[in-house]
Amino acid sequence: MMNVTNAQLLEDAVKALEKAGVEDAVLNARELLGKVLSCDCRSFEFGQKLNEQAETSVQSEFERLCERRISGEPLQYLIGEWEFYGLTLKVGEGVLIPRQDTETLVDTVLKKAPKDDPLIAADLCAGSGCIALALEKHLSFGKIYAVEKSPEAMSYLEHNIKLNSSAVVPVLADVTDEQTVNGFEMLDVIVSNPPYLTKEDMQVLQKEVTFEPQSALFGGDDGLEFYRTIIRLWKSRLKQGGLIAFEIGADMQDEVMTMLVRHGFENVRAAKDACGIFRCVTGFKK
Ligand code: GLN
Repeated sequence: MMNVTNAQLLEDAVKALEKAGVEDAVLNARELLGKVLSCDCRSFEFGQKLNEQAETSVQSEFERLCERRISGEPLQYLIGEWEFYGLTLKVGEGVLIPRQDTETLVDTVLKKAPKDDPLIAADLCAGSGCIALALEKHLSFGKIYAVEKSPEAMSYLEHNIKLNSSAVVPVLADVTDEQTVNGFEMLDVIVSNPPYLTKEDMQVLQKEVTFEPQSALFGGDDGLEFYRTIIRLWKSRLKQGGLIAFEIGADMQDEVMTMLVRHGFENVRAAKDACGIFRCVTGFKK
């Protein structure tokens, strides 16, 4: 191997990633090098390390990570953690990566949740636990359950609860199973970012998304299966005046709002994200 500095490794990696068509090549390369150097790429320390000679092991490990990134593996899986709503969460193969879009759902719940403390809430299809953990940091809850059916995702959820010194209660269960619902106490808030991609969406996934668990993405042929089932099964678990809040896929607001109205919810609304796209639907139990 040649004598090169970490800065030169970084520069070569940016070129290789750009050439391969990876978006945000600079950010990707810096994050991956930070991972290999065990320091945050935004830190002063990282800047100092850039001027040092690259160790052979750093060079080979960094090149290997860049190759995996070029082959489509999501950056978040390669670095093993991601930030959501100011929290650091462990992510990796087997769990959906928290999306920035989902911060809209957290904001909406924080704004609309009933004000009587202490609230009892459930995050259905919780994945990494990002929603439950973010809510817990900003509202006073008596209890928040995070319900997830995949054992692989559950291991991340449990890890993230510990990592954030959280009191969120993980529940390994299928939210579409009536038995699960019957085991729950009455709730003030139900929040869910269920799988909502349609059959057509699943056929044109971005390469990175194909690495994520299909079960966390696919919401049945029309993408709406989880909304139908969750509303039907869980409405009996909501207290009077309780809030239900969903993240939705593109252009699903009318259908999901109609479902809530048909099931007797009131003040049914859709909320937009920062880009002006409808991202969540909320309603209150009469
Ligand atoms: N927002 C995710 C995506 O675009 C889908 C997540 C979900 O189905 N809840 O891939």
